[in-house]
Amino acid sequence: MSALEDNVAKLTGYLARFRDAGILNRIGGQDRAGAGGVFQSISPVDKNAICDVAHGTAADIDAAAQAASDAFAPWRDMPAQERKAILIRIAEAIEARAEEIALCECWDTGQAYKFMSKAALRGAENFRYFADQVVQARDGQHLQSPTLMNITTRVPIGPVGVITPWNTPFMLSTWKIAPALAAGCTVVHKPAEASPLTARLLVETAEEAGLPPGVLNVVNGFGEGAGKALCEHRLIRAIAFVGESSTGSLITKQGADTLKRNHLELGGKNPVIVFDDADLERALDAAIFMIYSINGERCTSSSRLLIQDTIREEFEARLVARINAIRVGHPLDPATEIGPLVTQEHFNKVTGYFDIARQEGATIAAGGDVARTDGYFVQPTLFTNATNRMRIAQEEIFGPVLTSIPFATEDEALQIANDVPYGLTGYVWTNDLTRALRVTDRLEAGMIWVNSENVRHLPTPFGGVKASGIGRDGGDWSFEFYMEQKHIGFATGSHRITRLGAG
Ligand code: NAD
Repeated sequence: MSALEDNVAKLTGYLARFRDAGILNRIGGQDRAGAGGVFQSISPVDKNAICDVAHGTAADIDAAAQAASDAFAPWRDMPAQERKAILIRIAEAIEARAEEIALCECWDTGQAYKFMSKAALRGAENFRYFADQVVQARDGQHLQSPTLMNITTRVPIGPVGVITPWNTPFMLSTWKIAPALAAGCTVVHKPAEASPLTARLLVETAEEAGLPPGVLNVVNGFGEGAGKALCEHRLIRAIAFVGESSTGSLITKQGADTLKRNHLELGGKNPVIVFDDADLERALDAAIFMIYSINGERCTSSSRLLIQDTIREEFEARLVARINAIRVGHPLDPATEIGPLVTQEHFNKVTGYFDIARQEGATIAAGGDVARTDGYFVQPTLFTNATNRMRIAQEEIFGPVLTSIPFATEDEALQIANDVPYGLTGYVWTNDLTRALRVTDRLEAGMIWVNSENVRHLPTPFGGVKASGIGRDGGDWSFEFYMEQKHIGFATGSHRITRLGAG
């Protein structure tokens, strides 16, 4: 049996329960049908339905918000060591089910097993990392003044909503849910309608590991229904959102009446800037990895190559040779590097940019076509002879599509790099240290890597500027979002209190 056949056989076993029972909402530790009936989850690999999914509406969100509210005080007040132990058991349980999670994620999203096998384990790492922070999460400062002993402490904000996208849904949801739970918040999770499978696996894994009922609730459904209702719900104190920039604006508007705190992780059109003094072999590896891994459906992808004109021809030629050798295929084949795009709608969007590139006068140097028609497969694509004013340079395509733009000087590279609405990540390749310092200082991005691809280190801040988002995840920044600062002043003596009405 080949590795692909082996994975397909295992997946068939894992999917049987979904085919039989569908995916129900999980509210207060109970399975509940959706008030809106069902919708279907379709696999992008063969375009067939995987299973029915509960269609949650405002009524289901209301029940889930109530369950999260009821579960809040006991969870908040549980001794930190006990909460920590539960989070560690969740991490262990995810590790034990990593293969199931990864295979289901591949089938639901089209992501290649090569990458998703690690994404499930990174989800476990997120739980372990934040479990280690639980005990000190409430710690504060002591700020002495002449008349008062001032202390600060942090308390969890309350029940929160987590709204996630479909690109690497399991890993991304743990990135939000793990710190929220560690902070002492309870959660209502609204996963992306295109990828509901692993959200179900997460909540049941967590409950089996000892998470009390109602601490994590899952309501499936669509953005304009369940998602909107979650943003508007009066019991929900904050929304942690990952998705498109335009949806981020809606999240803000929808939360205005209830004064929601929002954390927005949005889109990107990230530059990888390659200067002619760089280690070009490593720059080539990193540029390819950052746009063609995860199907290019990656917010931090290096979707614009800014290449110094002195090395442009050679670099682009080497790029084309490598792109044409990328293996597009069945996502469960461990050798596959690119699987199908997530939905018909997204496939239409990405392939639409092939036409836009032609109309704009760019050159399609590699790919530019559908790869297979049994699923939503596209060829890895490179646009050259582009300018930064073209739509292919300005808009987030969110597929395995790279736009190459030449520059002559450092100033021009920076001008092009910053001339987009987004500012999530930037990648700089140069062996000139002072240039790296200058460029990173002026680059408008929340995260920058020099002579490296994106290597996530959990204690560092993750997030974007401009249309790429508001707020940061990671390390203590996550707790700043899920917790409230509280100041308490204790009088240290009998300082003079101004007396009114005392004659
Ligand atoms: P999307 O904005 O369409 O959907 C994301 C989630 O929001 C889904 O669960 C959806 O149902 C929900 N939603 C939609 N409309 C809503 C509304 N009015 N109210 C409440 N919820 C609503 O995004 P997508 O297409 O699923 O994901 C791709 C996008 O996510 C890309 O733009 C990508 O860059 C971004 N992303 C960003 C990061 C980051 O960390 N910055 C990470 C991954 C993905």
